[in-house]
Amino acid sequence: MSVLTVDLDAFSANLRTIAARVAPATHMLVVKDDAYAHGLVPIVRRAWRDGVRWFGAFDVSTGRAVREELGPDARIFVWVIGTPEEAASAVAARLDVGIGDATLLEDVAGAATDASATARVHLKIDSGLHRNGVRPEEWPAFVARARELEQAGSIEVVGVWSHIAEASDDDDDAARTVFDAACDAAHAAGLRPAQRHLAASAAAFARPEFRCDLVRVGAFAYGIRPADGPTDADLGIRPIGRLETGVVAVGDGTATIGIGSLDGLPSPLAGLVMVSTPQGRRPLVDVGLYASTIGEWGAARVGDLVTVYGDADSGAMSATDLAETIGTIGEEIALRISPLVPRNYR
Ligand SMILES: *Cc1c(COP(=O)(O)O)cnc(C)c1O
Repeated sequence: MSVLTVDLDAFSANLRTIAARVAPATHMLVVKDDAYAHGLVPIVRRAWRDGVRWFGAFDVSTGRAVREELGPDARIFVWVIGTPEEAASAVAARLDVGIGDATLLEDVAGAATDASATARVHLKIDSGLHRNGVRPEEWPAFVARARELEQAGSIEVVGVWSHIAEASDDDDDAARTVFDAACDAAHAAGLRPAQRHLAASAAAFARPEFRCDLVRVGAFAYGIRPADGPTDADLGIRPIGRLETGVVAVGDGTATIGIGSLDGLPSPLAGLVMVSTPQGRRPLVDVGLYASTIGEWGAARVGDLVTVYGDADSGAMSATDLAETIGTIGEEIALRISPLVPRNYR
């Protein structure tokens, strides 16, 4: 039986690091993908207790789940809305809505009018990533329309935002130029958005000029550092998730552990990584569907606990360490772990 143990105190420590690092900007905790597979409810509960007030929920169903858990005072940002029904659902739950196209703006305003409510919206400029967002040439008409809807009372423009690649400083700088111009144009249209936001984890930490009012940080809160980037120690974070499993059989110098590719362990890791055992690190030599093999481990006994990934204190490699051996990112390792693997909190 495998288990993902989530260290909520380590999570709190990461949240403190982030808050200190990005101040005076505010941390919006991104909780998409079931809080990066750490489990939405325990994560948002702890974050709320620790003073986090903004949550980046991605879709409306996640946003509604956070609302249900945290009550009316949480600010919950969603930015993936597929249908007018979803727009209405977001407005009804008083979610902050990210809007990257003119049709959605009308849908949200219409839903708010129907509900006699005012929708809080964040207008998205496409600053170069072309992953949704209003193109710069369409932006002046978009903000003018938003101002009309605001004056009519159906929406309140509380934010202007964009998303950047965080892969090259030059590209990010170009994006920020587009973003700043969009903020100026919004202001010129009469809008007064209090929340400008652009940065995710990497830019929030490395590039103060990208912090604006809010930073949308997910990965670093869970202690997932970027592949081929700064170390955990550089960043002041540590992994909060530890994937453990037990020895189910022993052979001649080998041990079989009860986790396989069907549980989400990528088979290409075989031969490339070490796991942590009571006798120290041992090589992962094979990954099967339901079980995997550890080599060079004569002293293994059935029931011994093995850490597949975790933080350095447990002697294990981290999710990002594993990811780097196969050319991917730590999130990919974390997100592949099957939801059937129980989550345990301490
Ligand atoms: C996932 C996501 C983030 C958070 O990114 P991290 O690198 O995990 O901090 C921020 N903004 C948007 C739009 C996202 O989709």
